[in-house]
Amino acid sequence: PSRNSISAYRITMIGAGYVGLVTGTCLAKLGFDVLCLDTDAKRIAALQAGRSPIYEPGLDELMGRQIAEGRLRFDTFGPAAVARADFVFLAVGTPSLPGSDEADLTQIFEATRMVAPQLRPGACLVVKSTVPAGTNKAIRTIVSDQRPGLAFSVISNPEFLREGRAVEDFLRPDRIVVGCHDDAGRAGMERIYRSFVEQDVPVLFTSPENAELIKYAANAFLAMKVAFANEVSDLCEAAGGDVRDVVCGIGLDARIGPSFLQPGPGFGGSCFPKDTRAFVDIGRRLGRPQRLVEAVVAINEDRKESLSSRVADALGSCAGKTIAVLGVAFKPDTDDLREAPALRLIPALVAAGAEVRFYDPQVAADGVAELELARQASSLAAALEGADAVVLLTEWAEFRMIDLVAARRSMRGATFIDFRNLYAREAMAKAGFLYHPIGSAPAL
Ligand code: NAD
Repeated sequence: PSRNSISAYRITMIGAGYVGLVTGTCLAKLGFDVLCLDTDAKRIAALQAGRSPIYEPGLDELMGRQIAEGRLRFDTFGPAAVARADFVFLAVGTPSLPGSDEADLTQIFEATRMVAPQLRPGACLVVKSTVPAGTNKAIRTIVSDQRPGLAFSVISNPEFLREGRAVEDFLRPDRIVVGCHDDAGRAGMERIYRSFVEQDVPVLFTSPENAELIKYAANAFLAMKVAFANEVSDLCEAAGGDVRDVVCGIGLDARIGPSFLQPGPGFGGSCFPKDTRAFVDIGRRLGRPQRLVEAVVAINEDRKESLSSRVADALGSCAGKTIAVLGVAFKPDTDDLREAPALRLIPALVAAGAEVRFYDPQVAADGVAELELARQASSLAAALEGADAVVLLTEWAEFRMIDLVAARRSMRGATFIDFRNLYAREAMAKAGFLYHPIGSAPAL
């Protein structure tokens, strides 16, 4: 049916996690009528009460406005919620299978089987979740097996938003990728993304398989840059260099670019680790091993494993030492802990005999076994008070502005291990710290 107003288009979002909630809220902001469904009743109850279950800058406010203006609602699954929709988005999780590199597609196939009986004729089923090549086709088969004769489209529309900047990334993306198999699906997505086209955002229309591959290949490439920077950082330490200048010098080459070349404690999060593993798994399965990405996965594992021995080297030994860990989220401006380096470092430090406390502006230890091994400090100052050493793990803005002299005075020891290279060696030395950055010699 031809409709002139965006508000006449009804969208149902399946999955109200980081991607579903941000995408649903932003689509409501664009004017669509959005209903977000999740099988997690607690999550939906919080959302119905106007509380976001995740921390994402700008999201609470934007969500509140869309709810107040009647364009955004939340519910647990109900058949009518799908039957109403012109577009059903799937934004459920695709984690690794336990003990395996393979992507676990249980949630996506279950969600497909749930929505298939209720899809209205002409509906677009839009797959936002990151899935291996061929999954969109499998989804199409599941629906047409359940609904022979139904006209519908399945569209691969991978999401590139970054946690911590998700709202901004959704509203101002570098590009939008749409993989579709028919003209009706393409026309549907042209409607959804019309305002982006008008703002000259590149929209790449391609096949579903290409769209699926683009998402994994993009994440694999970014992860490769991080792993490369980490390897170069180690080399700098051994060769008497300073990785800060080295990556700056590399990144000034326009063909390389400066982003994703900062060394650190290894990448974590809900995407790079599982997506690099899935990419490796797909390559092996199809007889085209992705050897570069295999190395990236191994390098990153080693890196996270080595964090505690770096701390032990700086301290002589961890036994009996009180160590303050600053930041446990896998990156700043998020409360996401999935595969965060902290989850490896804290248990290893405790096993080595250290007493660990941590402070993070957004993450609470509640129910997270690895964090419960440590004591949670209520502030940066409380974490530092009387500590033998500081380990800076996540580059929250608050940790860029530490009053170094006051910090040193409140501590018992003087060791400062900076896995994010946030500080100048001179300032650290002046404040009396034994400073251990990464990728250059310590300043003692
Ligand atoms: P998430 O775990 O935060 O959210 C998934 C949600 O789906 C959960 O709330 C879960 O309860 C719900 N769910 C599962 N099965 C359901 C069903 N049958 N019906 C209704 N709800 C159901 O995951 P996420 O981080 O939002 O990621 C979702 C997808 O997007 C993944 O494939 C991920 O790889 C991809 N992705 C994530 C990011 C990111 O930064 N988090 C970025 C780009 C792409």
